[in-house]
Amino acid sequence: MSSLVPSLQDCEVLDLNDPLRSLRQHFELPQGVIYLDGNSLGVLPRATAARVAQAVTHEWGHDLIKSWNTAGWFKLPQQVGDKIGRLIGAQQGEVVAADSTSINLYKVLAAALNIAAADAPHKKIIVSERSNFPTDLYIAEALCKERGFTLQLVEAEGIAEALQDDVAVLMLTHVNYRTGAMHDMAAVSALAHVRGILTVWDLAHSAGAVPVDLHGAKADFAVGCGYKYLNGGPGAPAFVWVHPRHTDRFWQPLAGWWGHAAPFEFTPDYRPAKGIARYQCGTQPILSLTALDCGLDAFLAAESLGGMAALRRKSLTLTGLFMQLVRARLHAHGFDIVTPNQESLRGSQVSLARAEGAYAIVQALIARGVIGDFRAGDGGQHPDILRFGFTPLYIGYADVWLAVEQLCQVMDSGEWREARFALKNEVT
Ligand SMILES: *Cc1c(COP(=O)(O)O)cnc(C)c1O
Repeated sequence: MSSLVPSLQDCEVLDLNDPLRSLRQHFELPQGVIYLDGNSLGVLPRATAARVAQAVTHEWGHDLIKSWNTAGWFKLPQQVGDKIGRLIGAQQGEVVAADSTSINLYKVLAAALNIAAADAPHKKIIVSERSNFPTDLYIAEALCKERGFTLQLVEAEGIAEALQDDVAVLMLTHVNYRTGAMHDMAAVSALAHVRGILTVWDLAHSAGAVPVDLHGAKADFAVGCGYKYLNGGPGAPAFVWVHPRHTDRFWQPLAGWWGHAAPFEFTPDYRPAKGIARYQCGTQPILSLTALDCGLDAFLAAESLGGMAALRRKSLTLTGLFMQLVRARLHAHGFDIVTPNQESLRGSQVSLARAEGAYAIVQALIARGVIGDFRAGDGGQHPDILRFGFTPLYIGYADVWLAVEQLCQVMDSGEWREARFALKNEVT
């Protein structure tokens, strides 16, 4: 058995033969760091600093307000949205990059409730997963209060049963942020549609991480994050997609002037733009959008190397290798792999649960240059988790091997028990 466990040399050979290896050159990877947190904040693309500097010094500094036209600032949300659309199975012109994931979720969820209220007023429930990302649940809770709906939270296994006739909307995160478990978007959407239920998908841990086919899956609404796998930088704008069958039916509730059909007519009344443009609210952060645009260019470079399908193959090999090494080398240390072993159910991260010390072990790893993160459990069914994201654009097979080696050393030495690793930071 142990002879089947890949060695560092085996992993180096995999890297040499990796057709996607050249993509790593698009990124600034700090020396001495193995970065397994691209699922939370993607790394800096090499092109970004110069491109943003150009936007600051030339477009802003020199051309000033003319740049809304001459540098294409006004069209940037759509232009960036179109690059994202290629990664998620949307058509050109169907996605805008704007605002945050939380805000975009508010817009699409409100629009979905408007549609439900018009088509099936007896439907008064939003169903979601108890272990969904909290901001998604908070936004849904607030909207339910505002509109007289009820938020019903279930475990993943209970979703099918919860989809009853009085449900208006099913709101799910495609890849679970804690466990890395992935829903079958097409199958779940089909189940929902049989009952006349609209689907809202959060692609925060999917866009740029796994192939997504929104049209193929017949999804209704989607939002997602720009600073995770899309490498847009801290606080990068998020994105929003609405199926064309819904876009023009209602206003979204944050109907600001950027979503107006003719914003520069400055009319006192609101007339929504056609299509996804109406999902914009107000003036967008152009410097951040510029950085996000650079993050997406690495995916364009990947297109000639097989695109998302090739990235997915590599991602599954990386996560599979990590799980294999953890099973073989850390079985005595009380880790439980909570990420599904079955490839079709797995995103691009691996989460390890441990009854004790998960936070301190992550801190000890970070001190050794292996950056993952910690997500608190609920003291019950959902345990504390060590989370490791594998971004196929810039993570290699030797990185995986070396990360597991460091984890072995942290556990074998017991150094994670040192008091300094128990100190909690404000952001985990
Ligand atoms: C990261 C993440 C968010 C982040 O929302 P912000 O508005 O950018 O803070 C929301 N939902 C999910 C599922 C996430 O993973």
